[in-house]
Amino acid sequence: MKNMIRAIGMVSGGLDSVLAAALLQRQGIEIRGLYFFNGFSSGIVRKLVYGEQSLQELLERKAGEMSGAFRFPIDVVDVSEEFMQVLLSPRYGYGANVNPCIDCRIFLLKRAREIMEREGYDFIFSGEVLGQRPMSQRKQAMDLVERRSGLEGFLLRPLCAKLLSPTVPERDGRVDRGMLLDIQGRSRKRQLALAAELGVEGFSSPAGGCTLTDENYAARFRDLVGNVKEPRLRFDSAVLLSFGRHFRLSPRVKIVVGRNRFENMYLEKHWTDCWMAFPVDHPGPTTVILGEPTDGDLETAAAITARYGDRKHDVSVCIIVSRGETTKHLTVSPAEETLIDRFRI
Ligand code: SF4
Repeated sequence: MKNMIRAIGMVSGGLDSVLAAALLQRQGIEIRGLYFFNGFSSGIVRKLVYGEQSLQELLERKAGEMSGAFRFPIDVVDVSEEFMQVLLSPRYGYGANVNPCIDCRIFLLKRAREIMEREGYDFIFSGEVLGQRPMSQRKQAMDLVERRSGLEGFLLRPLCAKLLSPTVPERDGRVDRGMLLDIQGRSRKRQLALAAELGVEGFSSPAGGCTLTDENYAARFRDLVGNVKEPRLRFDSAVLLSFGRHFRLSPRVKIVVGRNRFENMYLEKHWTDCWMAFPVDHPGPTTVILGEPTDGDLETAAAITARYGDRKHDVSVCIIVSRGETTKHLTVSPAEETLIDRFRI
């Protein structure tokens, strides 16, 4: 009977989730992985801004690479637009930055549960390790996540299962609890030794990370939601918070200045409905102006744009600001540091 068991797992591509899958495979359990893209995987977001592939192409490539590396099928599920609502009002709050880890886990596990039930899998596994992360991997938080995702008894964490109550498949003997582990804490020593023992390779480093744990990202996110009455967040806006130089000119206007040609190109391609600013006759950044700027805001945006162009030491430079059919040529002095500091987010 044992080799007829099928499990579906949350696989991030990091060491722990791949090891969890390998431990179950060692028992003859059929494994399928799910990689949920919630919009904040820094590797994918960076490739989106700095490469030429679409999100769809990047996700398909990710699925192919992971399936090839780990020798079990992995599907990529894009939940980014739905996750934005979770991010805006997490019931269990944020971690050190704007990472709503408990709500995120519950949300993703609910999605996994739907797939499990629809496709007849026996249980869900994850690579969580007790005590490894301060917010979401404490015992109390892990129990809460299991309960709130509707997976009581059906969420197996192979790396630390012996420290937790036995799940249903362990209790009825379909999963051999004796072959599961009791790892806890932040050290990765035991996982690395196990990876060598099981021949597990191709996992990504923990630094691959979630943008929401980044301090700078958090500051920009808080600025965004703090200046809008009923904040709504779309994937494109979330991506925009992850690159460029950001300045808040007023509660209703902010600007983003590209730092290199990739960022400039991304802004020009994706924010065509907004006011844009760029130098007329010398290399410099593209600036996107969000909101409804006054003439004064356009002048300030032009001065900040000039500050990051090749003629930043000139007394005055000409900057074009335009939206649709409207184009203005503004002659401005490049912004001084005091102005930059005043508006920088
Ligand atoms: S760090 Fe937290 S918010 Fe980010 S993906 Fe992981 S669980 Fe979700």
